Amino acid sequence: MATPKIQFIDLAAQRRHIGPAMDEAILAAVHSGAYILGPPVKELEQKLAAFCGAKHGIACANGTDAIALPLMALGIRPGDAVICPSFTFAATAEVVAWLGATPIFVDIDETTYNLDPRTLGLAMTTAAKNNLKVRAVIAVDLFGQPADYDPIEEFCRNEKLVLIADSAQGFGGTYKGRVAGSIGDFATTSFFPAKPLGCYGDGGALFTPHDEHQEVIRSLHFHGKGEDKYDNVRIGVNSRLDTIQAAVLLKKLEVFAEEIDKRQLVAARYNDALKDVAVVPHVMDGCVSTWAQYVIRVDAGRRARVLDELKAKGVPTAIYYPKPLHQQTAYKRFPTTGNGLPVSDRICHEVMALPMHPYLDEATQGYIIEATREALASTARAA
Ligand SMILES: *Cc1c(COP(=O)(O)O)cnc(C)c1O
Repeated sequence: MATPKIQFIDLAAQRRHIGPAMDEAILAAVHSGAYILGPPVKELEQKLAAFCGAKHGIACANGTDAIALPLMALGIRPGDAVICPSFTFAATAEVVAWLGATPIFVDIDETTYNLDPRTLGLAMTTAAKNNLKVRAVIAVDLFGQPADYDPIEEFCRNEKLVLIADSAQGFGGTYKGRVAGSIGDFATTSFFPAKPLGCYGDGGALFTPHDEHQEVIRSLHFHGKGEDKYDNVRIGVNSRLDTIQAAVLLKKLEVFAEEIDKRQLVAARYNDALKDVAVVPHVMDGCVSTWAQYVIRVDAGRRARVLDELKAKGVPTAIYYPKPLHQQTAYKRFPTTGNGLPVSDRICHEVMALPMHPYLDEATQGYIIEATREALASTARAA
């Protein structure tokens, strides 16, 4: 069989599906001349909030700022700590360090790869030992599956901590009847092009049920503006979403629910075809993943060879994440809970992501599955 041209995430297929309506929407934004905070931005904020059932939605420049803005609104500062997983994209912890506060890294659950709620108590001990005051928890919806929010919320209530849901990968997923975006004191998302709901550049949004915080954040993301644009009442940042990107997202939001459904079919086909040869993803009962990534696990000793074989067969793969944050140069100095993070440390050597997007057709997926099974079989023989 000739090697097909397979995309890891096929944004061109989505463009073909959405068609000329998208180009018209972009052109309309260009013709409107309202490039910053034009009407599509407000419309998008309302539609995103309605989509997930959140009270307030605020669009901003990217998914990193979406996490930073709530931390700024809370006045997180040096001496404060924020608990977060280590097995995540750097932005989750980066924003804590921006403000001079300390991320405390906790381990993940080995079946969901999300923050293990049982480790939260250990983080409080770590904070006390380091003379830090824990202010918030950032949970991450890794690979699209919502974190286990019930026990995390209970912990935050008991310890009087703010819960931030980093739903950059999981926005639109479901946790026991609640849609990611509506969970936590703040939920954040990213519209980076490769995310399940992505735009044609950088973008982000955050959601909150708190009226007061939303007002402060609206001001913060616009240089700390007050009622009058030239009377700035606090030190802010410039973090707005472009009108053009809002127009793109409004078009994509129209098909987003349908795309999440399509992703379930793709994931189910992978699960059925690979569960006897690799560790396939486990989605908790009552939850729906947006499948930002489809990640399997193979023996650490074989992974590099499996990836090489897949590459030779024209199947693109990726590793999310090869190193947990607490092992990365910039983050090594921050504390982890008690006895280290054994699950994060092990799993980072075993994970590998296969092509995943809503328009992955059965024939192409069949080829990927066959190639993956062959690569796993031949590396098993070689081992
Ligand atoms: C992508 C991502 C972010 C940051 O989003 P940007 O829009 O790239 O700034 C934050 N957290 C997680 C878990 C992400 O995957």
